[in-house]
Amino acid sequence: MAGFGWRVGSKVQRWGRSCLRGLSSAATAIPSQLENVGFIGLGNMGSHMARNLAMAGYKVTVHDINENAMKKFSEDGIPTKQSPHELSESSDVIITMLPSSSHVLEVYNGPNGLLGSGGRLGPWLYIDSSTVDPQTSRKISMDISRCHLKENKGYAEKPMILDAPVSGGVPAAEAGKLTFMVGGPEEAYIAAKPLFFSMGKNAIYCGGAGNGSAAKICNNMAMAISMLGVSEAFALGQNLGIKAGTLTDIFNCSSARCWSSDTYNPVPGVMAGVPSSRNYDGGFTSKLMAKDLDLAMVSASGVGFKCLMGSEALEIFRKLCEDGCQFKDFSCAFRHYYAGKDEK
Ligand code: NAD
Repeated sequence: MAGFGWRVGSKVQRWGRSCLRGLSSAATAIPSQLENVGFIGLGNMGSHMARNLAMAGYKVTVHDINENAMKKFSEDGIPTKQSPHELSESSDVIITMLPSSSHVLEVYNGPNGLLGSGGRLGPWLYIDSSTVDPQTSRKISMDISRCHLKENKGYAEKPMILDAPVSGGVPAAEAGKLTFMVGGPEEAYIAAKPLFFSMGKNAIYCGGAGNGSAAKICNNMAMAISMLGVSEAFALGQNLGIKAGTLTDIFNCSSARCWSSDTYNPVPGVMAGVPSSRNYDGGFTSKLMAKDLDLAMVSASGVGFKCLMGSEALEIFRKLCEDGCQFKDFSCAFRHYYAGKDEK
């Protein structure tokens, strides 16, 4: 039997499946209906998520349009497939981790896509962890509800889909500490929990189809606004003669405390190990933040809701991208808009 491979230092360790099971952090038997996992989208996030599933003992097979991304997996003994359709032939569950709504729609509905087999599907469960708008999640859920299973599985009468975007970023994806926000049928959420807890430390059920995506874009809109608010307050403080480090100590035991002040401080030199302390490299790019704010604003206008702060934040992050900071961490808004002062 081919073993899954895993890199330890510069060596590739190869283990048989039973051995991997022994190493599983979950240390529980994998339900047979979740055993074969097809994973699509091996980028910054998906590559770690797929590897964590393989480490937990799932039989993972992967697909990406980027051949180099697939090569890294095949070198480690993890099988690859050339199209979403081919991947779905051998999977119980499909997980997608793609850049945006258009990529997700293409993978589901495009040529050689997941749903392209005349409405009779092999996998019984689909999990989309990409950050997309709730309307896209609901559209795919409707598309899937019109399909049937190729074979009667006993445990599922029809194929089901969960929208399950994540919070935590690349370090949490690598460490298996993501938070999943999950929308879709509750029975599918309950069945999928072992998968979520092989890639993350929290899974929160949000209600019907699209509600996980709705939760994610609300979370990121609040994060963008709080990052801008904290950045502006630190810059004002500096202009009034208070160093950002001192103001951070005050915020963190006062009412302005938030993730942007105590975990992901935007001012260079105030915190170690965050993007602001390494020239805003790594982390969550301004481009992705602009994308998520755009999703939030499109969704808001779809229901006739006005987001005063959210639309302002979108303009600010769009401008940041136009000014060449699209690949810098989104906390670079501090430097871009307020640089020039003593930063500590
Ligand atoms: P990424 O661009 O690094 O990876 C996306 C992968 O999808 C790439 O390998 C790409 O080749 C592949 N892909 C694109 N189109 C494809 C197709 N048609 N078929 C197969 N593969 C295809 O993106 P990422 O940073 O891994 O983010 C993935 C998702 O997770 C995004 O929706 C993002 O908003 C969300 N997210 C990212 C972070 C983060 O910190 N990077 C945090 C939370 C959520």
